[in-house]
Amino acid sequence: MEKHLLAVYPGSFDPVTNGHLDIIERACRLFDRVVVAVSTQVDKRPLFSLEERLAMLREVTANMPQVAVESFGGLLVQYASRRGARVVIRGIRAVSDFDYEFQMSLMNRRLCEDVETVFLVPAEAYTYLSSSLVKEVAALGGSVAGLVPAAVERRLLEKFRGREGR
Ligand code: ADP
Repeated sequence: MEKHLLAVYPGSFDPVTNGHLDIIERACRLFDRVVVAVSTQVDKRPLFSLEERLAMLREVTANMPQVAVESFGGLLVQYASRRGARVVIRGIRAVSDFDYEFQMSLMNRRLCEDVETVFLVPAEAYTYLSSSLVKEVAALGGSVAGLVPAAVERRLLEKFRGREGR
């Protein structure tokens, strides 16, 4: 019997970058369906609202039929189990990501034995890329072309229009 493998890729995606997209594409090659799950947690004080983050992700994954975009609150493993997913995808860029991700994956295992964390590594060109660095550069009027999809670049320009030099 064929089994359909569903993976959840959770994060803040504030905003989605080409690094995130690289991971989504790699996940699509391994799993039948990939649910990109945007955290509703507000303690990170996101620049983009939940609705904006969902809309950008939906726009840039519109050409990927395997991908769905949703929001989730509460415990990730509970959401994953509810969704019928046995796999959680996380991206690892450098050693600096490792400590936190390792800790999280073991805590998640403790909370739910049935969900495995799978770490994927992006193309080298994206290993220095993070949403926070992209926001910092855009806020100061620098170009983020090539680091984020064009639709996201447009929204960043709108957000920061007239703010440079303040
Ligand atoms: P979180 O707040 O959960 O860290 P992010 O949106 O920053 O949310 O990241 C979501 C996931 O994507 C994390 O596993 C993170 O390591 C990974 N990620 C972020 N940027 C990149 C990138 N440039 N390349 C590969 N993975 C990345």
